[in-house]
Amino acid sequence: MTVRIDSATRNQLQEWEKELETQYQRICQHELNLDLTRGKPSAEQLHLSDRLDGILNGDYRSPDGIDTRNYGGLDGLPCSRALGADILQVPTEEVMAGGNSSLTLMYHAVLTGYLFGFAGTKPWREMAAPKFLCPVPGYDRHFTICEQLGIGMVNVPMTATGPDMDTVEKLVREDQEIIGMWCVPKFSNPTGVTYNQDTVTRLAQLGQVANPGFRIFWDNAYAIHDLDQHVNLPSIRSATIENDTTDSVIQFASTSKVTHAGAGIAFVSASSANLDSLKKQMQAMTIGPDKVNQLRHSRLFPEFTLLKEHMQQHAEILKPKFECVLKHLENAFGDSDLGSWEKPHGGYFISFDTRPGCATEVVRLAAEAGVKLTPAGATFPYGKDPENRNIRIAPSFPPLEELDTAMSVLVLCIKLASVREQLQKA
Ligand code: PMP
Repeated sequence: MTVRIDSATRNQLQEWEKELETQYQRICQHELNLDLTRGKPSAEQLHLSDRLDGILNGDYRSPDGIDTRNYGGLDGLPCSRALGADILQVPTEEVMAGGNSSLTLMYHAVLTGYLFGFAGTKPWREMAAPKFLCPVPGYDRHFTICEQLGIGMVNVPMTATGPDMDTVEKLVREDQEIIGMWCVPKFSNPTGVTYNQDTVTRLAQLGQVANPGFRIFWDNAYAIHDLDQHVNLPSIRSATIENDTTDSVIQFASTSKVTHAGAGIAFVSASSANLDSLKKQMQAMTIGPDKVNQLRHSRLFPEFTLLKEHMQQHAEILKPKFECVLKHLENAFGDSDLGSWEKPHGGYFISFDTRPGCATEVVRLAAEAGVKLTPAGATFPYGKDPENRNIRIAPSFPPLEELDTAMSVLVLCIKLASVREQLQKA
């Protein structure tokens, strides 16, 4: 049944509601228990890296002769920094390899700016109202960091080529207390968009007009997570060199969605001035990261080509799941006015925009039918989606058959919520 709401009469809407309601009640009786919430790798994906266990086989020396069992090495092992450099396409000297979580490194970087300031600039806490620009929809955990530290957040709409740069430039020019910006530049969480050259260049130019303490948090979590075709992300590093703004960007990545999500390596890359500031804060807290685990990863991927082949295996597992979600959306809404979505070529998410005002109700209906979705609003600062329309679909974790069922339920809930919303208005 194709539902076109804008041209429907009240009678048609009522008929549709009755029909959809019957289908919905039938589904509710199945007592499903399905989960489309977090972007976690499936067990099948995790298995791809199980060779990590035991790979050292008693040989704990790194290629440079470091006994990884001992203390030390805040920067991480040279071979691990080289791995991070390959992933981020930057020089090894500009990379630190840390523990298992890039989110932790981001949190420390925000703390560094907040408490001490980067590269001799004023600590953000000394400002009346420091704030970050937040492309929306975005990654909820970025927003939680700002919220926890009392750093304000300003929404900037995402477009098909990255954040709306006219808005970004205007805000940065007008407000010198904008001291940061979150970016997920490749296969953005959740829209799947990859920033184009114009966006990357204009972002690199912000450092010329922003507060000297301004930093872009370039969270390249999906740098090598292409699904079907290779998607090129223009180099932010080159753009900052061309614009003499190398201090304005700090890059992050990790192997969380490459090896074992909870036991990988995280990377941060920045100018030496920024890395010095970060290390000053971190060395009070730790003597060094888990180098044994870092070495295990270098043994698994002695060459970057092996890592890329490994990512193709991930893609083979993920591709049918993305196709399943897109097939359901296309079949149900391809010819309707019930919502819009992007077709990502990588990453972990598909973002769906319902008609305004419907997302909360879709999530509620799905939950009652046994399908858990990320709470509506979670992809916005403070959990507030001003138009109440964004739904983040995370297809990686459930097995394909479960995903297929969950998508049938989701599609039905979107239809039902949309028809009811329209009936209330009519
Ligand atoms: N950044 C983004 C954009 C993510 O989607 C995720 C995981 N969902 C993370 C960071 C978390 O990365 P890590 O496991 O390295 O902390």
